[in-house]
Amino acid sequence: MSDDILLRVQGLKMYFPITKGIIIQRHVGDIKAVDGIDFFIRRGETLGLVGESGCGKSTTGRAILQLYRPTAGHVYFNDNGQEVELTAIKGERLRLMRRKMQMIFQDPYASLNPRMTVGNIIGEPLEVHNISRGRARRERVQELLQVVGLNPYFVNRYPHEFSGGQRQRIGVARALAVNPSFIVCDEPISALDVSIQAQIINLLEELQAKFGLTYLFIAHDLSVVRHISDRVAVMYLGKIVELTNRAELYENPLHPYTQALLSAVPIPDPVVEEKRQRIILEGDVPSPANPPKGCNFNTRCPRVMDICHEIEPEFKDVGGEHFLACHLYA
Ligand code: SF4
Repeated sequence: MSDDILLRVQGLKMYFPITKGIIIQRHVGDIKAVDGIDFFIRRGETLGLVGESGCGKSTTGRAILQLYRPTAGHVYFNDNGQEVELTAIKGERLRLMRRKMQMIFQDPYASLNPRMTVGNIIGEPLEVHNISRGRARRERVQELLQVVGLNPYFVNRYPHEFSGGQRQRIGVARALAVNPSFIVCDEPISALDVSIQAQIINLLEELQAKFGLTYLFIAHDLSVVRHISDRVAVMYLGKIVELTNRAELYENPLHPYTQALLSAVPIPDPVVEEKRQRIILEGDVPSPANPPKGCNFNTRCPRVMDICHEIEPEFKDVGGEHFLACHLYA
């Protein structure tokens, strides 16, 4: 793996078994939440991962961090020049690697334990990973509170004493506690008021510049990731359908699904906005337990062809690191 690549995902699959029977459980199928995806993330960059709810993006984040053990495929992490296959390690080795990869959760109301003080919430990872205890831990927590823009004297307060934006800052401080190099931001602003979403985005950007962090930023719409991402991957029904750099994706989207998603994003210029044509997709997203044969977007694609019902399009580079899975560009 080249040195500028921090994380590489190869053929990643995450299936959840469907069982029937009360006493003897029979395996009758699988929910194919993530169904064979490939991508890499460069050191210091932000890769946006976008798709409708249930498309597998959060599962992807968790499977990368090994919070779910993937059904198949590989995740490689560049640990100071040494390639570590996260999918092949466990126990103490995996625990040590987890220090380098953290997660910021979607809902700052649900993800913080209401019975713990802020000091304990942020300091817990420091103890779990044997980094610091006692006074050193308290000082580190206060430093982290300052880093995320909160008053360091808040250590003895409880989550309910904070606003949504402040709680998300606490979640960010907790993720930063162990000095990670990679953070999965799982819809970190979706549960927040629009007025404070920008503050959290700005904070994440500042921290990225300060600590050289690499982000996988998960969101359900393309307008959110536009500002923060260097490259964007679009996911549909467990697969990545398009991945390219930000400018290319927003100016020259090639996949019919990306085009439909982008047509829903309002444009700030009123003249251009008036001409914006919405592409309305017919039908619902099929069940991940029973995805369509061929291209998994064929039941809703406005440009569907015969081949799309038979053969699955290959996810490949159509030029200039613009990756795509669609027969229109074969
Ligand atoms: Fe549409 Fe066919 Fe392309 Fe799939 S492969 S996105 S169905 S045109």
